[in-house]
Amino acid sequence: MYKCADCGNTEKFIGYAQENGNVLIYKNDSDNCSEPYSWIYNISEKNWSSDLKFIKCSVCQSENIIKI
Ligand SMILES: [Zn+2]
Repeated sequence: MYKCADCGNTEKFIGYAQENGNVLIYKNDSDNCSEPYSWIYNISEKNWSSDLKFIKCSVCQSENIIKI
């Protein structure tokens, strides 16, 4: 779990996320969507992986994020 050392927030952070793995791809029905296809990750797949980086607190914008 992560926490902002300045304001105590543990709920929301700004960061960077990257996911890799098999997906289920489906066509978007909506015409006003910029992408013709969407996808969902199949997280039961064994070789699914994710990478999350916590950059700053979304409440006070502090970059003083600690792991607790
Ligand atoms: Zn904060």
